[in-house]
Amino acid sequence: MSASGPARQIVVVGGGVAAFSAISELRSRGFDGAITLLSPEGLPYDRPTLSKGYLLGTEDATKIRLAPEAWYAERSIELVPERAVALRPAEGAVELDGGRRLPADRVLLATGGVPRCLGVPGGEAAHTLRDLADSDALRRALAPGARVAVVGAGLIGAEVASAAVVLGAEATLIDPVDPPLVPAVGEALARRLHAMHAERGIRTIVGAPVGIEAHDGAAPGSAYSVRFADGSTVAADAVVAGIGILPDTALAEAAGLEAEGGVIVDDTGATSNPAVFAAGDTCRRRAGDGTLARRSEHWEAAVHSGQVAAAGMLGAEPPQFGAPWLWSDRHGVHVEAVGTLDERHAPGARTVLRMVDGVPQAAFLLAADGHLLGCSAVDLPLVVRAARRIIDRGIVPDPDALADPSADPRKLTR
Ligand SMILES: Cc1cc2nc3c(=O)[nH]c(=O)nc-3n(C[C@H](O)[C@H](O)[C@H](O)COP(=O)(O)OP(=O)(O)OC[C@H]3O[C@@H](n4cnc5c(N)ncnc54)[C@H](O)[C@@H]3O)c2cc1C
Repeated sequence: MSASGPARQIVVVGGGVAAFSAISELRSRGFDGAITLLSPEGLPYDRPTLSKGYLLGTEDATKIRLAPEAWYAERSIELVPERAVALRPAEGAVELDGGRRLPADRVLLATGGVPRCLGVPGGEAAHTLRDLADSDALRRALAPGARVAVVGAGLIGAEVASAAVVLGAEATLIDPVDPPLVPAVGEALARRLHAMHAERGIRTIVGAPVGIEAHDGAAPGSAYSVRFADGSTVAADAVVAGIGILPDTALAEAAGLEAEGGVIVDDTGATSNPAVFAAGDTCRRRAGDGTLARRSEHWEAAVHSGQVAAAGMLGAEPPQFGAPWLWSDRHGVHVEAVGTLDERHAPGARTVLRMVDGVPQAAFLLAADGHLLGCSAVDLPLVVRAARRIIDRGIVPDPDALADPSADPRKLTR
């Protein structure tokens, strides 16, 4: 594998949204060489719905595909439903299970992440949620009347608890942080969102389990005991761990690529081997000044990094993107955040709230010099879109207009 000379044979490892966005971008940019997509789960599909519509049964496996089968054939993309087991940069090849080797002059690693398991005795009994099979298994466990203990009340844990009650199960949500999600959405919205769980009949516990005990042959409703340090327990038919992911860096590390909490990439998506690129949840960007960015675990960032890596593999300038954005759906509300709401990294910053009847609808984090750093909101997509423009264009907004629920979002950017 060598980065000298233009790319002619690209192998993309992974069947998630980062891989999909990279292959789309390669063809949109006119790349007419060979593209092979290694996607062990078959046709690439979207994951956010696995804790939302797909888990609830309102979307099926066909609907969540990123593109139909014909899309790949029309673009001469060879889809191989197999895992890569090794990169062979010196031989210019990617090795598959069974020993077959695919020739490649550029490789994109888009291997995503693996869910963190509960690191306590018995923790391996907990469901985790990353792929279709996980969501199918969880759905079977969320039967009406079943008791489910969800450990981790961040984005995915809260969505699972929300889906559980819709499906008729009884949910207990356990998290050592009260309220969770403050760095993602700010304190006020984090409190509002967390309070919604109790309003929907979900029991919330501040704490961290020290063990999960399985009771073989026990009656339904007490198959497991989730145990806490003070000796108290929560009985559950099923336990779910929603405590984040670890980047899947195994192939990169085995090939000697630099990795530190993610496969390290530069601004073009290139790893420490200039013929190997990485994108999506698995990668972590090192800025020009040497600082390592926080690894993103969000859908849009995965799309963007796939596009950056595609440009990088073709030797083109990387596209530029604005403030990062994420969303979450729970209890019938749509939560969004753009930029950063994390006050810890913004000395002198202040938060402006948009309130209606004493309930926070949106939070804006303003830097000491008045620039907008981030915005989070519940069911206010136009406000979030305006906030994104304000951040990306470096506009100094009027704090009173931000706080005013009657202000027209389109006028906020003026
Ligand atoms: C349940 C759930 C809900 C989510 N909800 C939201 C949300 O509401 N908002 C949001 O912004 N983000 C959300 N996310 C995060 C978002 O889905 C991820 O950021 C995104 O999927 C990352 O894409 P990726 O392509 O990097 O990784 P993945 O989607 O994990 O894809 C990685 C792919 O690599 C494959 N792979 C791994 N190893 C190999 C190998 N050796 N050979 C070949 N293939 C391999 C895997 O099979 C998989 O297909 C959610 C994620 C999950 C799991």
